[in-house]
Parts: sequence; C-alpha cells; structure tokens
Amino acid sequence: MDHFEYRNGELWCEEVSVSNIVETSGTPAYIYSAATLLEHYDRVEAAFDALDPLICYSIKSCSNLHICRLLAEHGSGFDVVSGGELVRALEAGADPRKIVFAGVGKTDEEIHRAIDARIGWFNIESEPELENLIDIAKSRRVNVNAALRVNPDVDPKTHRYTTTGTRETKFGVDLERARRVFDQYGRQDAVLLTGIHLHIGSPVNSVEPYVRAITKGLDLIESLRGDGFKIDTLDIGGGFGAHYRASEAPPAVRYAEAIVPLLEGRNLRFIMEPGRSIAANAGILVARTVYVKQSGERQVLIVDAGMNDLIRPALYEAYHFIWPVQPPDGFVPVGRGEDVRFPGTVQMDVVGPVCETGDFFAKDRALPPTQRGDLIAVFSTGAYGFVMASHYNTRGNPPEILVIGDSHRVIRRRETYDDLLAAERL
Ligand SMILES: *Cc1c(COP(=O)(O)O)cnc(C)c1O
Repeated sequence: MDHFEYRNGELWCEEVSVSNIVETSGTPAYIYSAATLLEHYDRVEAAFDALDPLICYSIKSCSNLHICRLLAEHGSGFDVVSGGELVRALEAGADPRKIVFAGVGKTDEEIHRAIDARIGWFNIESEPELENLIDIAKSRRVNVNAALRVNPDVDPKTHRYTTTGTRETKFGVDLERARRVFDQYGRQDAVLLTGIHLHIGSPVNSVEPYVRAITKGLDLIESLRGDGFKIDTLDIGGGFGAHYRASEAPPAVRYAEAIVPLLEGRNLRFIMEPGRSIAANAGILVARTVYVKQSGERQVLIVDAGMNDLIRPALYEAYHFIWPVQPPDGFVPVGRGEDVRFPGTVQMDVVGPVCETGDFFAKDRALPPTQRGDLIAVFSTGAYGFVMASHYNTRGNPPEILVIGDSHRVIRRRETYDDLLAAERL
C-alpha cells in the first residue's frame, strides 16, 4: 500500500531513512514517496483501462507544485476548484485541455482566467453560475465546454462534512432540476452543456454508492439524449478511499469491477477525479516528542506538530496510525493500524502544542514507551494534510520533502517568522 516500511528497526521512505531526512529538515515535516503516489495513480488508470479514463487528479488533496509536476509528467489531468489551483496546475505543466474546474463560487475573475487558459471543462454547480458563464462566454465570443454537476441524492456513508452528493448539500443540482437546466440552457452554444458531473463525497469505502449514483446519472443521460441533447461526457468525481487503517479501502480494481460494466459501450468520455486515493498513503507527517506528561492515569505525548499542521483528527475525528520512527527493541510493527498489538505498550494521548483541546492526533492509543526527543510518524497524511495547514498560533508551516528512490529534496521550505509577518509589515 505504500513505500514506508521498517527496516533494521527504523522507518524508511523508499531508499532513505526517515531519521536521516529530518536530521537536516528538522521537525515537523511532511515526507512524500513519489513511488507510492505514482503507483496509486497507475492502479486507478489500469483498473479503468477499458473506459480509457481521463484522470483529473484532485489538486486540493495535495497540491505542492512538485507533486503536481510529477503527475502532469505522468499524463494526469487536474481537477481544480479555485483560481489558485488553476494557476498551480498550469505552472506544474498541466495540459489545459485536461483541466476540469468545479466549485460552487467561481468568481468572474476566476472564470476569465480559466477561459484564457482554455481549460477542458467547467463543472457547473448552479443556474446562476451557468447564466454568468454564458454571459461571459458570449461577451468574449468564445465557446466553452461544461458539465452539469448533478446531485444524485446518494448517501456515501462518510463524515457529514465530506458528504457532497445528498440532496441537502450546497453542491450541484438535483436530478429533476437537472432536466430543467438542460431544457432552459441546453440549446445555446456559448456554453456547450455536454456532460454530467457527479461527486458524492469522500472517502467512500464501498462501491455501492457509486453504482447507485452512476445508475441515476446514466438514466438522466439516456433521457436527455432521448430529448435530443448531445451528452458525450460523464465525470464520476473522486472519493475513492485510502488506507488509514490497514487495507481499509477497496482496491481500485474493486471499484472498477462494479463501475466499468455500467459504462462500457455507452459512447461517453469518462473522467475521474481521484485525490485521496492517490495522495493519502504517499505521505507521512514526522514530529518530535517535546515532552511526555502524566495527566491522571494517562500519558500525554506532546509533539512539535499541531492541529495547524494536520487538522483531520480535530476536524473529522479522523484516525491516523502513529508509531515511533525508531521504535524500542521489540516494537517494530509488521502491519499498520488497529491490528498492531504488542505487550508492553502504554495508553497515550498524542497532542500538539496549540492552545485548543481539539489539538490532538490520537486519543488513548497504545504506543511503545516514548521519551522526550523521540520521533513519531503520523501515517497516511499525504492527502488533506499540508494543504489544510494554517498559521494558527503564529506557527509557520512545515517543509514538504519528496523522496524519489534513494534521493530526497525539499519541495517546500519551512516557513520562517519573517514569512509569517511579511504580509502585515505595511
Ligand atoms: C474533493 C473533490 C474531489 C476529490 O476527492 P477525493 O476524496 O480526494 O478523491 C474530486 N472532485 C471534486 C469536485 C472534489 O470537490
């Protein structure tokens, strides 16, 4: 599932030891494995090969320029949700025809920029947005491609903050309204409305919500075609799971086994927007233990990374496997996640230094005895990790480091106090 493994008693990323990397970078630090990233991309591509997929990596999941560049060189397109992400994708060398632009609040400025760049598709989230895009396209005398984001009203059974395809979310339009949108806007040609976009949420650790959503999407497409609309594109969005616990997510082939038969022979261009399933397992966050504190019965491990560096546990109560980078003798894990059981572990909370009770990475977790100065790794933090980092408590963002085989390099430097204050020194 990834290229982070324990060798000779310590954690390695590909052919470099993690302790070796942080000796120069310091902590906290995000470390990414290029091989893991590309392997997960390749698995999705191979699994869906029969549909000749256009994979538009969801840039928001892990958006470092160097990560994007790796993927762009590998043939990936990009799913962007802001002007900033568009600029990133272009600077990373993305082929603009392989860029899809979603998001409920695209501003005029962002729309103009995307038209200038000649992106592949706009994913439309509402009628007012579509009207605005039509006006802008007309005024510029251009034709743009668009897909209508349809909300299939399928519950992906994931966290309520990351559920996007049920009726009551802010995304897309429901199936009945979708018909009306085509009736009203499907016959002008400033914005060529020729696709349907679905994105039901994330992570979706089962196949069945996709089957239900796609089936509804296909029914809509067939009925629109029956009315004479040319629909040539289906974008199924992202949301495939990642391994936060060992083998938690179905492999790409499982999703494909259910999805490919639905779509073969439909004469549709097939787009997918995976983010998490490509990036999550490709990254870890490494932190150093600052203090070990006794709090009642519990040991509290206070580390030098905080919720400002990784907010998923605080925001979603997300589980991340945590283990020392150089565990004591006899504590080298073989598996990952809940299946790791050792005699002699201690129940601990792992917390950061930020002044919030929500600033924790794990509660009541069985970990090897750990001391001040010891390094710990928070696994599966490649997606929605660094990208959600903030400066809360005036803490600079950690560096990002990319490992390729036996080499590693800083792909984003650690922020300094000067960086933090620069925009305010007016
Ligand atoms: C976030 C998002 C994705 C990616 O979701 P993952 O769970 O990271 O695969 C894809 N499409 C859209 C429109 C999104 O908002």
